[in-house]
Amino acid sequence: MNIHQPIRPAKPAFLDGKAKKLLIGGKWVDAQSGKSFTTKNPATGEVLDAVAEGDAADIDLAVAAARRAFDGPWGRAKPAERQKLMLRIADLLEANIAEIALLDTLDMGMPLAFSNYVASGPVVATFRFCAGQAVAIHGETLYPSIPGDVLAYTLKEPIGVVGGIVPWNGPAFNATWKIAPALAAGCTLVLKVAEQASLTALRMAELCQEAGLPDGVLNVVTGYGETAGAALAAHRDVDKVSFTGSTETGRHIIRASAGNIKKLTLELGGKSPNIVFDDADLEQAVPGAAMAAFGNSGQVCLAGTRLFVQRGIYDEFTARVADFAKALVVGDPLDPATMIGPVVSEEQLDRISGYLAAGTAEGAEALAGGARLTEGALANGYYVPPTLFSGVRDDMTIAREEIFGPVISAMAFDDIDDVVQRANATDFGLASGVWTSNINVANKVSRRLRAGTVWVNGYSLMDPAVPFGGYKMSGYGKESGSAHIDEYLASKAVWINTL
Ligand code: ADP
Repeated sequence: MNIHQPIRPAKPAFLDGKAKKLLIGGKWVDAQSGKSFTTKNPATGEVLDAVAEGDAADIDLAVAAARRAFDGPWGRAKPAERQKLMLRIADLLEANIAEIALLDTLDMGMPLAFSNYVASGPVVATFRFCAGQAVAIHGETLYPSIPGDVLAYTLKEPIGVVGGIVPWNGPAFNATWKIAPALAAGCTLVLKVAEQASLTALRMAELCQEAGLPDGVLNVVTGYGETAGAALAAHRDVDKVSFTGSTETGRHIIRASAGNIKKLTLELGGKSPNIVFDDADLEQAVPGAAMAAFGNSGQVCLAGTRLFVQRGIYDEFTARVADFAKALVVGDPLDPATMIGPVVSEEQLDRISGYLAAGTAEGAEALAGGARLTEGALANGYYVPPTLFSGVRDDMTIAREEIFGPVISAMAFDDIDDVVQRANATDFGLASGVWTSNINVANKVSRRLRAGTVWVNGYSLMDPAVPFGGYKMSGYGKESGSAHIDEYLASKAVWINTL
C-alpha cells in the first residue's frame, strides 16, 4: 500500500503561543476589556492561538487613531510617496508568501496549494496594481456654459477614515481588498477581521509596519461582529465602510450607516448560475463547472452553485462532474496534494449539513458526496465532500439559498430564453458563467444575465485590473479595477469665476 506522507511546513514563528493583540495607532495593545478568544484549526479542531476580543471601546480608540493619522502628514502625502510605500509592502508580502499562505491554511482550512497561489498571485498583484493607481488619480477640467468667464474642475480627495469589515473565507485576500485601495486613495483604515480567522491580517499588518506605514494609517481590531463590527459600522467618525460578508449582515451595515450617512461598498452573497450549452467543450466545462463550486470548499461568494445544463447533454455532463468530484483529493489542507480542505468551523459544517439534508428531503439526488466525512483522520476536522445534487427544481431550498459549502445544484434547461429567465430568478446577482463554443450565444446570454460578472468558457477568473461587484442583493460598489480606488475617493467641484 502506498501511504502518502506529506512534508508538513514548520509552524510559523508568528504562532508563538502569546495571545495576539490589536493594532491601534501603531501600538500592539490588549483589548480594553482584557478579554481574548481562541481560534481553531478547522482541519483538526485544535486551538491555534488566542486573539484579543476588541469591542466598541477599542473601535473608538482605533477610529480616533485613524482620524489623527488622516489629519496628519499621511492625509497630505503625495501619491508617489503612497505608491512607494505600497510597493515596499508588496515586496515584503512577496518575501513572506509562505508564511501568509500557511496562516490562511491553518486558520481557515484553505488547501496550501490554493493559499500559496492566492498570496503569491492576487494579494501581491493587488498591492502593486493599487500602487499604480495611486499616481493615476485625477479629476476633470470642465467648461460651464453659464455666462461669464467661468472654469470648473473636480478634485478627487481621499474620503477619510474607512472601516473595513471582512469575512473569513480568504483572510489574506480579503484584507488586501480593503487595505490596498484605502492606502492608494490616501485614506486611513480600521480593519475588523473575522473572528473565525484573524491571524493572517495581523501578520500582514506587522509587515505593513515594517514597510514604514505611519502609525494609525492601518489599525486592526479583532473581535466579534455583533460588538466590534457593529460599533465600527455605526461609528460617527467613520466616513465609509467597505464590507464583505453575508447579505443579512449587509442589511445591518446599511442600517448602522444611516446615523452619519456613510458611504458604503457592499460585497454580499451569491447563488451564481453556471450555464453549460450542448456545444460547449466538455473537456473544459466539466472541471470548470466542478471547481466553480468546489474551490475553497465552496466558501466563495462568487461560487457557481446553480449548474444549468442543456437537456441533451444533462445526464452525461452531470455524471462526468460527479466523477470529477469523487476524484478530488479531500483531506489535510497542509498536504500539497489536497484539493478540498475542511470547511471553516463546526458551525459552518452544521449549516452545510442542514442543506445537504434539505436537498435529499426535497427530492434531489446526490450523484457525488451528500454527507459529512468522518473517516480516519478526517473525523476531528470539519470535512464536507464535493457534492453534486441532480434533479434539482428551481424552488428547492438548495437552488435558492447560499450554502457556502462545496455543493452544486444541477438543473436541465431547454433554450436561451428558458435558462436566462431561470438564471435571473434569484435575489442575488454576483457572478455567472456561460460555456459554449458559439460566440453569438455567449454574447446574447452575457448581455441578458443580471450579474456583475459573466465568465465565458471559464470561471472564477480574477485580476486586479478588472472590476468585481454585484447586482441586486449581492451588493453595490466595485472592488478591483480603477473603480476600486474611486470607492475610496470623494469628488469635489471647484468653480473659478474669473473676475
Ligand atoms: P459570514 O456568514 O460569512 O461569517 P458575516 O456577514 O456574518 O459573514 O461576517 C462577515 C464579517 O462581518 C465578519 O467580520 C463579522 O464579524 C462581521 N459582522 C457580523 N455581524 C455584524 C454586524 N452586525 N455588524 C457589523 N459587522 C458584523
